[in-house]
Amino acid sequence: MDYIVDHIGIAVNDIKTSIPLYERLLGEPCYKTELVPSEAVDTAFFFQNGAKIELVASTDPDGVIAKFIGKKGEGLHHVAFEVPDILAEMERLKKEGFTLLNEAPKLGADNKWVCFVHPKDANGVLVELCQTRK
Ligand code: ZN
Repeated sequence: MDYIVDHIGIAVNDIKTSIPLYERLLGEPCYKTELVPSEAVDTAFFFQNGAKIELVASTDPDGVIAKFIGKKGEGLHHVAFEVPDILAEMERLKKEGFTLLNEAPKLGADNKWVCFVHPKDANGVLVELCQTRK
């Protein structure tokens, strides 16, 4: 299976202040923002080519990102790999004993199907699989 890093997710409290901060840091404008209702998050993307940076902020005080920041603070949240066939990869990982956080692919940001692997099975790293929707 070919794993290509698609993006690194960074949990932030306030996307409105983090966008200009990352624009200054990366020397590049944010090229897209997108609300993702399925995850109750607001996202902002940098670097259209190559591995992207995704800022993720919660739109719901009880959402997963709000909970993550409550526990660990802002910072690195997940690493996302683009895979050619997310269903096949989910099957493979289940057989390998990994815990998937969703049973079926969900509609994520950036026109992708996504599935998360539990961080307890990956040395504390939340892994996102994603596949571009055709
Ligand atoms: Zn992501």
